[in-house]
Amino acid sequence: MRDLLMIPGPVEFEQEVLQALGAPTLGHTDPAFISLFGRALKRLREVSLAPGAQPFVISGSGTLAMELAVANLVEPGDAALVVNTGYFSDRMAKILERHGAKVTHVRAAPGDAPSVAEVKGHLERGGFKVVTVTHVDTSTGVLAPVEGLSRLAREFGVLSVVDGVCATAGEVFHQDAWGADVYLTASQKAVGVPPGLALLTVGPRAMEAWRQRRTPVASVYCDFAEWLPIMEAYEAGKPAYFATPPVNLVHALDVSLGLILAEGLEARFARHQRMARAFRAAWAALGLRMLPVSEAVTANTLSAVYYPEGVDASLVGRVKTEGVVVAGGLHPDLKARYFRVGHMNRVGPADLLATVGAVERALAASGHRFQPGAGLSAAESSLTSR
Ligand code: PMP
Repeated sequence: MRDLLMIPGPVEFEQEVLQALGAPTLGHTDPAFISLFGRALKRLREVSLAPGAQPFVISGSGTLAMELAVANLVEPGDAALVVNTGYFSDRMAKILERHGAKVTHVRAAPGDAPSVAEVKGHLERGGFKVVTVTHVDTSTGVLAPVEGLSRLAREFGVLSVVDGVCATAGEVFHQDAWGADVYLTASQKAVGVPPGLALLTVGPRAMEAWRQRRTPVASVYCDFAEWLPIMEAYEAGKPAYFATPPVNLVHALDVSLGLILAEGLEARFARHQRMARAFRAAWAALGLRMLPVSEAVTANTLSAVYYPEGVDASLVGRVKTEGVVVAGGLHPDLKARYFRVGHMNRVGPADLLATVGAVERALAASGHRFQPGAGLSAAESSLTSR
């Protein structure tokens, strides 16, 4: 029997999306492909709630989306402020430094996020071109105050780059209304498509900053100058070539974004919140503590949960024996002390209860003492209470 994939990406995907991957491959100049690529670009803009933004759909993983944002917006010597909530914020800093930026970190303790006021204190010192923030840090399950930070950056005339890889189409985000300049993501999490696509919606201020560059973009593959005409052509119903598009993945993206918009973004965000609440209720009932330090900084797209006393990372293997795949920790200082459960995309009560049940049985096998069914019962109560 196939295991249920409940890691924080890749996740379980809809059948229609997987079928698009298995459909006969179209040529990239085929009118049917031109039409679906154009539609996928429009849909991406809708999912980011960014009517004025330029969408980019490029073959690669989320790390490429991060590098695309940095390579096009940052020039050597520019100052960047990294709102650091963990592993993926460190990765952003590494990419920024490789592209010649002078990086300042504003950090919080593991499990917490810097406050908007702390970030403001840094911006008041002036000189920053860009501030980056990880919407949900997948290493810790921490949700950053992205609305406040995006608005703050706009107030200070600093470009904001939001890494939505573990958030897009799962956590509330209004790119245009909040004034976020770049939202970058990848296909394999709440966007609902197997790994392989880097996705960005780039707002007008960021596009203008790219146009005003004094130095060329250091990478040909990353240069918006190569990709912008391609995205514009497909959206206008015309073929164009720079590098062969991943035809089947783009097809799958179009299908998934269509399903997301049909569900409705607000309904989808609410479903993710409802499932996350029920997971939290289950963990608490099982006597497990979560890594995020407060509800305000707890993501809805995954749970990062400490192993209880006497249980170690072998729990992850035991959960797999029970038919569900969860992930170990990722934060460098704490990784042996917690596990992670992704709850994104098509997650609903069935997957939720299957996962809590598997974790319960694995905990029991690991010697943790609790009333069997306590987690399931708490999850059920949470789901029922609305
Ligand atoms: N940012 C975040 C928040 C992520 O969770 C990930 C992947 N887990 C990445 C960036 C990098 O994406 P990828 O692994 O697809 O390169």
